[in-house]
Amino acid sequence: MQPEVVDQYDVVIVGGGLVGASLVVALAPLNLRVALIEASTPPQTGPSWDERCIAINDGSHRIFESLGVWPALLSEASPITSTHISERGRFGVARFAAVDVGLPALGYNIPFRHIGQTLWQAAQKTAARLICPARLQAMEQSADAVQLLLDSGEKISTRLVVAADGAQSAVRKLLGITAQTQDYKQSAIVTAIRVTRPHGGVAYERFTPGGPIAVLPKPDNACSLVWTVPSDHVEAMLAWSDAEFLKQAYETFGERLGNFKEIGRRNAYPLTQVMSAQLTAPRVIFAGNAAQSLHPVAAQGFNLGLRDVATVADVLATAADPGSAETLAEYERRRSDDRERVSGFTDRLVRTFSNRVPGLRGLRHLGLLALDLTPPLKDAVMRQNLGLGGLPSKFARE
Ligand SMILES: Cc1cc2nc3c(=O)[nH]c(=O)nc-3n(C[C@H](O)[C@H](O)[C@H](O)COP(=O)(O)OP(=O)(O)OC[C@H]3O[C@@H](n4cnc5c(N)ncnc54)[C@H](O)[C@@H]3O)c2cc1C
Repeated sequence: MQPEVVDQYDVVIVGGGLVGASLVVALAPLNLRVALIEASTPPQTGPSWDERCIAINDGSHRIFESLGVWPALLSEASPITSTHISERGRFGVARFAAVDVGLPALGYNIPFRHIGQTLWQAAQKTAARLICPARLQAMEQSADAVQLLLDSGEKISTRLVVAADGAQSAVRKLLGITAQTQDYKQSAIVTAIRVTRPHGGVAYERFTPGGPIAVLPKPDNACSLVWTVPSDHVEAMLAWSDAEFLKQAYETFGERLGNFKEIGRRNAYPLTQVMSAQLTAPRVIFAGNAAQSLHPVAAQGFNLGLRDVATVADVLATAADPGSAETLAEYERRRSDDRERVSGFTDRLVRTFSNRVPGLRGLRHLGLLALDLTPPLKDAVMRQNLGLGGLPSKFARE
C-alpha cells in the first residue's frame, strides 16, 4: 500500500487569535513553511473579535513596530501618557509617567477588533497557509514530526506545533497536559463611556472592596471601562439601565474624570488564571493564553503572549530543526522567568486587593505610598509594566 501523502510544514500554529496571528507575521521573514489552523472565521467571529480594548505596553509597541504593523495600529491607538493607581477611600496613590522614562507614551490602548483585523490582514499577505475555519481534532507525535488531523478530515504534518489556541487549549488537552486553574470568582464588565473632563491620556486603576475599576483613554474623550466585580453580581449589573450603570460606575470610580455619560455595549468576562503545567512538549511549544491566561488587573496577558511570539521567532531564526529538543529548551529557558514573574505579580495583585481581611487595607495603602515614594521599587514596577523584562535583546532601544 502507498503511504498517504500529506502537506508538510515546518511550523503549524493552532489558533489564530491575537497571538497566533502575530506569530504568522513574525515568522514571515524566516524561510519556513508555515500554516495556521483557526476554528472561527476571522475577522467576524471568535473570542478575539469582541468589544474590548487592549492596553499594550512599550515592549509590545516595539514588537509591533518590528512586525511592520504599527503604522496600521496607530490609527486607532490612544497613547497612555501616565497611570494613576489608587484605593477607594484612601489617600495613597502611585503614579507612573512617560516623561519620567523619556518616552512619549507608557503604552497604548487599542480596540481588540482593530488589532485582530490588522494582524489578519498582515497574515494574509504572507506565504503562510491560513486554514480556517478548521478545528484541530487529533494529533500524534513522532521523533521527527507531528501529524495533525483537522475536522475537515485533512491530515497535515509539521516539524513544530505552536499551540496558540487559548486558555482551554485543545493541544494541551489532546496531549494530556494538566493546567493549574485559579477561579477568582470575579468577572470583568467591559464597556466604553464618555466622560465630561479631559482624560489627558491618563489610565486610572482604582481598587475597591468589590474589585478594581480601570478607566483607560480612548479618542474623543471617550474611555474604556473595565470593572471587576464578584461574579454573582454580574447578572444584575448587566440588567441595570444605562443610566443606573453609569451612576454606579461613577460612584465607584469617583469624580476625577467628571461625570460619566454615554455608554457602549456591556460584555462580561469570567476571570480565571490558567497556567499550563508545561511550556513545551515533544515538538510542541505553548504560547499566549494556551501557556498562561491571566486576570486582566495588570493588563499583562497579551503583552506577555506577544513576548512569547517574539521569542519563538527569535529562537526559530537560528534553529536547524524548528521542533528539536534544543529549540524547545531554548524557548523554555528564555520564557520561564518572565512568565513566572508576571503571572505571580498579577495573582498577588488580585489577592492583595480583593480580600477583605481587616488590617490589610492599611498595608495596601502604605504599599501604594511606598511604591510612589521609593524610586528603586517604582523603577522595578515601571520596568515590568513597560514589558521590557523578557523582551528579546534585538528589541532593546539604545
Ligand atoms: C476583560 C479582559 C481585558 C483584557 N485586557 C488586556 C489588556 O489590556 N492588555 C493585555 O495585555 N491583555 C489583556 N487581556 C488578555 C488578552 O485578551 C489575552 O491575553 C489575549 O487575547 C490572548 O490571545 P490568544 O491568541 O493567546 O488566545 P485567544 O484569544 O483565546 O485565541 C485562541 C484562538 O484559538 C482558536 N482555537 C481554539 N481551539 C482551537 C482548535 N481546536 N482548532 C483551531 N483553533 C482553535 C480560537 O478560535 C481562538 O481564535 C484582557 C483579557 C480580558 C478577559
